Amino acid sequence: MFPWRYANPEPYHVLISEYMLQQTQTQRIADRFPAFIERYPNIQALSKTTKQEIILAWQGLGYNNRALRLRECALTIVEKFGGIIPDMYDQLISLPGIGPYTASAIMAFAHGKDIAIIDVNIYRIYSRMMGISNPADANKSMIAIFADQIYPRGNASEWHQALMDIGASLCKAHHAQCNACPLNMHCKSAFQVNMDVKKIKRKEPSHRDVPNRIWRGRTVECLRNRPSFAESKELLLSAVIEQQVNDQDILWFDQTIIPALVKDSLIEYDMQTNIVSIAS
Ligand code: SF4
Repeated sequence: MFPWRYANPEPYHVLISEYMLQQTQTQRIADRFPAFIERYPNIQALSKTTKQEIILAWQGLGYNNRALRLRECALTIVEKFGGIIPDMYDQLISLPGIGPYTASAIMAFAHGKDIAIIDVNIYRIYSRMMGISNPADANKSMIAIFADQIYPRGNASEWHQALMDIGASLCKAHHAQCNACPLNMHCKSAFQVNMDVKKIKRKEPSHRDVPNRIWRGRTVECLRNRPSFAESKELLLSAVIEQQVNDQDILWFDQTIIPALVKDSLIEYDMQTNIVSIAS
C-alpha cells in the first residue's frame, strides 16, 4: 500500500506525492517518499528550506526543477493561505507547478471533494469506454463531459484511484487485458482494442544520442555527489560525459546545458572562478 493511499490521507502528503508523480514512476516514489516526509514533515518545514537543500533532497526523483517549484508552492501556501493546503480548484491552480490534473487530484484525494480527474491513464480508459480504441483519436471536450458524468458522487477519490490502477495494470496503451477488466461490460472497445497503435517517439534535442534532459539531470546528479556540491566546469563536464571530452562537448556544455540549468535556477555558474555549483 502506497503511503499516499491511506484512508483520509494528510493533504500535505497528497500534495507531495502528486508533485512527485507528475513525471516519476510510482515505485520510485514509494521508495523515496518516507525519507522526504521525514526531512520535511509539514508545509512550514518545506517552506523554510533553501534551494540547495531541496535539490539535494530530490535525489533519485528526476526532473529537478519540480523540486524548486514545490518549494515555491510551499512558500505561497504559507504566505497566502496560512499554511493550509487549499481545497478550492481556483486557489490550487494558482499555485506554482499545479496544473488541472494535480489540482483535481488534491481536491479529491486530499479533501474528499467531488470532482472529475483525468490523467493519461484515465483518458485512455474513457476513450476506450466510449468506443475509441486509440486515445489519440478522442475529442478532449467529449472526454471531459464523459468524465464529469460517470464518476459516482461521494466517491470521487476511490473511483479515480481504481481507474488509475486499471490503467496501469489492465488497460495499457499497448496491451488491454479486457477479460480481467471490471469495466468490460460497460466498455464499447472491450475485446476490440487495436494493438497496432504505434508508439509515437518524441524527437528531442540530444547530444551523443542521449536527450539533453538526461544530461541536465546527470549534471545536477554529479554536483550532488561533490563534497561541497560544486566543481570546476571542466571537471564537471568530464564527470558528466564519462568519456574523452572533445571540442563539441565543451561547446554544447557551455551553450546548452549550463545556461539551461542556470535559467531553471538549479545551478549557479561563476564565470570568474569557472565553478559550477548547486543553487543556494
Ligand atoms: S474492457 Fe478492455 S478496453 Fe475497456 S477499459 Fe477494460 S481493459 Fe480497457
